[in-house]
Amino acid sequence: MRFEFALIYTFMIAALVACSLMAHRSRRQIGSTVALLTASLIPPVLGNLIIVCAHTAALSTVGYYIYFIGMNFVMYSLLRFAFEYCAIKRGWFARCGVNTLFAVDIVQLLCNPFFNHAFGLEEIIADDAPYFRLVPYFGQAFHRVLDYGILAVTLIIFIYKLMHSPRIYSERYSVILGTMLCTAVWQTFYIFSRTPIDRSMIGFGVFGLLIYYFSIRYRPRRLLDSMLGRLASGMPEALFFFDMNNKCIWANSPGLSLIDITEDELDKVCEKLTGMFGAHTQTEREWTVRHVIGTGSDAKYYVLEKHILTDDNLRDAGQFLSIRDNTDEERRLRQEIYNATHDRLTGLYTKEYLYECIRRRLSANPDRKYLVAFLNVKNFKIVNDIFSNAFGDHALRTIAKSLHTDLPKGCLFGRISGDTFGLLIPASEFSMELAEASLSSIVVEQGTVVYHLLMHLGVYEIIDPEVDVSVMFDRAHLALSTIVDEYQTHIAFYNDEIRDQVLWNQHISSQLKTAITERQIVPYYQPIVDRSGVCVGAEMLARWNHPEHGFLPPSRFIPVFERNGMIVELDKYMWRCACETLARWGDVQPELFLSVNISPKDFYFTDVVEDITHLVREYGIAPRRLRIEITETVMMTEAEDRMAILREFRRAGFLVEMDDFGSGYSSLNLLKDMPVDVLKIDMKFLGKTDEEAKATTIMRNILNLSEDLGIASLTEGVETEQQYRTLAEMGCKLFQGYHFAKPMPIDDFERFCS
Ligand code: C2E
Ligand code: MG
Ligand code: MG
Repeated sequence: MRFEFALIYTFMIAALVACSLMAHRSRRQIGSTVALLTASLIPPVLGNLIIVCAHTAALSTVGYYIYFIGMNFVMYSLLRFAFEYCAIKRGWFARCGVNTLFAVDIVQLLCNPFFNHAFGLEEIIADDAPYFRLVPYFGQAFHRVLDYGILAVTLIIFIYKLMHSPRIYSERYSVILGTMLCTAVWQTFYIFSRTPIDRSMIGFGVFGLLIYYFSIRYRPRRLLDSMLGRLASGMPEALFFFDMNNKCIWANSPGLSLIDITEDELDKVCEKLTGMFGAHTQTEREWTVRHVIGTGSDAKYYVLEKHILTDDNLRDAGQFLSIRDNTDEERRLRQEIYNATHDRLTGLYTKEYLYECIRRRLSANPDRKYLVAFLNVKNFKIVNDIFSNAFGDHALRTIAKSLHTDLPKGCLFGRISGDTFGLLIPASEFSMELAEASLSSIVVEQGTVVYHLLMHLGVYEIIDPEVDVSVMFDRAHLALSTIVDEYQTHIAFYNDEIRDQVLWNQHISSQLKTAITERQIVPYYQPIVDRSGVCVGAEMLARWNHPEHGFLPPSRFIPVFERNGMIVELDKYMWRCACETLARWGDVQPELFLSVNISPKDFYFTDVVEDITHLVREYGIAPRRLRIEITETVMMTEAEDRMAILREFRRAGFLVEMDDFGSGYSSLNLLKDMPVDVLKIDMKFLGKTDEEAKATTIMRNILNLSEDLGIASLTEGVETEQQYRTLAEMGCKLFQGYHFAKPMPIDDFERFCS
């Protein structure tokens, strides 16, 4: 029997050492306290092991000392553990008091050999061998009272905690409390029964193991379950848990309210979910689907996610479904996408989105024929200027609305920029009638203002759908730019001619530099005469002696360079030529003047005043001999700045001529503010007027007006003697036209004048 117990105690000691070490190494905060408590249980067991094995009184006494002092150590650590485990703060005073009592007890026990007041030993026979049993005296009673007192305090702490904690926490306390009580009762039994071998040491071992398990290893499942359950209930998503048979076993409150059932009606979950979201037959084990209920602004968006739940062995244990109401996020996202893809003013597609939609449409319908159209509002700037920007905005919105109502189904359209719109029309839906009726004009009304807007349409028929959409629109735009007769023609198609024109433009643009340096571009001089037919000057007009294409009139290259801005190079060259000629004439014909043309683009790309004044200074010419021809279109943008430039020219001594007067728009309106010296009236614009008498009246009025404003007049395009005479009678001062001479090279001109 003694041998068996010796084995059991040894095993207990080993187990307690292991628990103590593991508790010490654990990262839990309570680890060191648990390590101390489990370690403190070792001396009493060790003491008993010695007692069990001892065959002499001396060895037994050593065993009892280890046991008694060990018990103090146990009580000390137990108290410390109780405070920490139950999260109670120990006062400094209490700690000192208890420690003093333990010290007193140890001292009095150690004094036993001298006073024999604590305990004695009596020899009995156990297992045929001498066994030394404890005989307690007064000092032993003190030791017991102290240890039981501490035990009682510990029990009270645990009982208090057990009673005052929520039910879910009770497990933590009740298990330890129960074990403590059992061990204490067992130990008490042995103390009072005085049975030789103290079997309650087994209880110590078990107690140590339980302390270790519950403090370090144990995860309070019920507590966790309850916490997780509460967490799931508080989540905004609707959650449904199903067992392996697809039977709903739990749903959180958002889930219950989503399908409008109570906790007792979980049987209805599947049926209700199917009714609301349809039957989802995903083959994947886990899936996510988006679901919309309702339409338009009432639509609700949900995200459904199914997950499989597995047990510790990774076997399927059930599944859960989460349903998230994504409506707000979805709406915000849709609004953001809408804002990014739709024009704010008109609500039409933006250019980028339109191109994207067209790309998608073309690749989805490779066999279908489509047209791409570029729609431009004619003189939209004037609408803004004359009425207001608000009216302009209203006009654009009206156009957008009419595109929605008038275009056949299957068309795509959007706003490309300010007053231009892009369209994709199925070829089968397009007809000239449609284009003329819906796309060439529109009536804009706001309050009392009613305005008839004209629109031009450039159309490109898609032959190769692989071509980039932006190139298609470039082609449609090119077609649009060929509309010259602004009022009669509204629609132009991209064709080979236009393509050739594009190639031609590229071709001559690449050659301009060489043409200037090699002097292929030559100035021609068209004489200007006075009332008596005497040549007083000339207009310089560019001609190109092209090595490959022969003699080119300005109509072949000037518009190209005006569009791409290269006109600046050409004009600067022409201005220099004019200065060279004037400088050469200096002594021979000092009275002759030369007029040079300034393109509207020159104002954008160069400082015209600076350039020209620099030139006249370089060649030493009187600025009066160089006349500056500008057209009304120069004034169409940044009118104030442009006027300031013209004033600068005049201040520097140049004469400013308004070229092609009458061909633009608000000529008369502009005239009164324009800082010009000469009005060049183009006879061609009168050609539009059928009746001779009417033309004469208009001409007379313009001439009178210019005289009233103190502006000299020059009529260009005079072709007949009759015209010349009539104009002279009306008071026109200067004339230019084929009637006198066509533009000619310098030598011819010099001969003409001499
Ligand atoms: P523009 O400045 O109005 O020049 C007058 C144009 O009318 C010239 O055409 C001239 O040849 C033509 N013309 C003159 N008298 C008559 C006539 O009696 N009947 C008819 N039917 N036409 C007449 P051109 O030389 O072909 O020049 C056309 C336009 O090209 C010019 O119009 C001008 O705007 C532009 N241009 C010509 N050279 C230059 C230049 O060096 N720089 C710039 N920026 N533009 C130029
Ligand atoms: Mg001119
Ligand atoms: Mg002209």
